[in-house]
Amino acid sequence: MPFDRPEAADSAERDIALRLDGQLRKAHPKEVISAALDAFGPRLALVSSFGAESAVLLHLAAQVDPGIPVLFLDTGMLFGQTLDYRRMLTARLGLRDVRDLRPIFEDLATADPDANLWQTDTDACCRVRKVLPLDRALDGFDAWITGRKRFHGGSRLTLPVVEAAEGKVKFNPLASWGKTELDAYATEHDLPAHPLVAAGFPSIGCWPCTSPVEEGADARAGRWAGSQKTECGIHTARAPGAAPFLGGDI
Ligand code: SF4
Repeated sequence: MPFDRPEAADSAERDIALRLDGQLRKAHPKEVISAALDAFGPRLALVSSFGAESAVLLHLAAQVDPGIPVLFLDTGMLFGQTLDYRRMLTARLGLRDVRDLRPIFEDLATADPDANLWQTDTDACCRVRKVLPLDRALDGFDAWITGRKRFHGGSRLTLPVVEAAEGKVKFNPLASWGKTELDAYATEHDLPAHPLVAAGFPSIGCWPCTSPVEEGADARAGRWAGSQKTECGIHTARAPGAAPFLGGDI
């Protein structure tokens, strides 16, 4: 879906998202993924962390099309168990196009040469290790699928099934599913759990910023625990006119 002018593109994406959200609001997640593929074909990607709940969305997508491009942010700070899980789940589900996105050397050399930015500025660290690599990869796509769910709370409580953001259409097929539906689907399809779930991690990101939580606590309570931060930034609006990071202060 090439657009000549940015304003026209934004407006067109909003219109498409509104129309599809109306059609798909009550649809089964698999139907949402099929509709996304029908609408965008090879210009659609799925973004996965291969974290605690990722197997369900990846399994659903693999039923629709195992060749769908899956973008995986390998921040360089992930648990070894996540990297193992990414390899195992990819093979198990038959996913044919999983792409590892890594921060580029120039950004790390300038912003985080000692790999300790997470200790002083988590937003800047997430920008270099997550937001910029994903934005670069998404340049080649018009739409993407996310694994976000309303039950995660915070800004996700009002999550639509289809939305427009940052010049793309975003599909959230699991928006309305809760833990009960996720667990039932995983059991029905015998999906392997991330190895850290059994150790008390209901949501899993980078090792410096992920903690186990007490049973019954919010699923994302262990992410950036003790700080106000709740999102890494890939799902939050970029500053108007924000330029790609080229080094210097961020
Ligand atoms: S989650 Fe933590 S370590 Fe990972 S990119 Fe963000 S601040 Fe850095």
